[in-house]
Amino acid sequence: MGVGKRLRVRSLASGSNGNCVVVQSGEDALLIDAGISRRAVLAGLAATGIPEHAVRAILLTHEHSDHTRGLLPVARRLGAPVIANRATLAAAGACDLEHCVLETGATLELGALRLCSFGVSHDSVEPVGYVVEGGAHRVVCCTDTGVPGDLSERLKEADLAILEANHDIDRLLAGPYPERLKRRILGDAGHLSNAAAAELASALLLHRPGAQVWLAHLSAINNTPSLALATVRRQVAMAGGDPERVTVAPRGRPGPIWDAAETWRQLSLF
Ligand SMILES: [Zn+2]
Ligand SMILES: [Zn+2]
Repeated sequence: MGVGKRLRVRSLASGSNGNCVVVQSGEDALLIDAGISRRAVLAGLAATGIPEHAVRAILLTHEHSDHTRGLLPVARRLGAPVIANRATLAAAGACDLEHCVLETGATLELGALRLCSFGVSHDSVEPVGYVVEGGAHRVVCCTDTGVPGDLSERLKEADLAILEANHDIDRLLAGPYPERLKRRILGDAGHLSNAAAAELASALLLHRPGAQVWLAHLSAINNTPSLALATVRRQVAMAGGDPERVTVAPRGRPGPIWDAAETWRQLSLF
């Protein structure tokens, strides 16, 4: 695999107020969700060294506004089709945009990238996570799900896992949210907690020690980056994995770039 085709991934924003991830392989890139402004997406692409014309598609996980707020202006500016299942395209108001239906569980090739979606459990019409492959590497992106389902199975082949760590359960229960909202978040169609993320991350890093985990979609009220990180790293270390493999995708700004070539170099040192 040439360095030019290596998989690169960056979270441009992650959290309950806006989500967007960019995945690139060679000349091809795609966005997962567009829950931030056009300006923020363009700035994030430029800062990552990805030209606008490289973006082949905008994938949607579900229709909630923290994933679709910037969709119309971003899709128009980039001239890229929106990809999602039929129900999500309709619910997101994307049917009038250039689009492509990817039914849940189906796969698609976009230039150097291969992708497939999988169903998750969330209070939207037909929510999904995505597996994106470029060359020999694979990123699994899964936020906004109330239960892990078969996620640990899907994560087994992940080189990078973007994994929801929405809330600390005690902090949520003691916090200011109304009871109904607390029940929604904790329910089967809500969001994954730090504890759930810790279990998934531990299993992945034991199975695949070279993988990287980004904790994503953190709540501003019911979590903090240091709390999420401490909870997950503690459990990973207890399970015998490398806690340094876990980091947080920041809210409201781009995070670090994950680069398959660098990961390979890191691994080759051992
Ligand atoms: Zn969300
Ligand atoms: Zn949601």
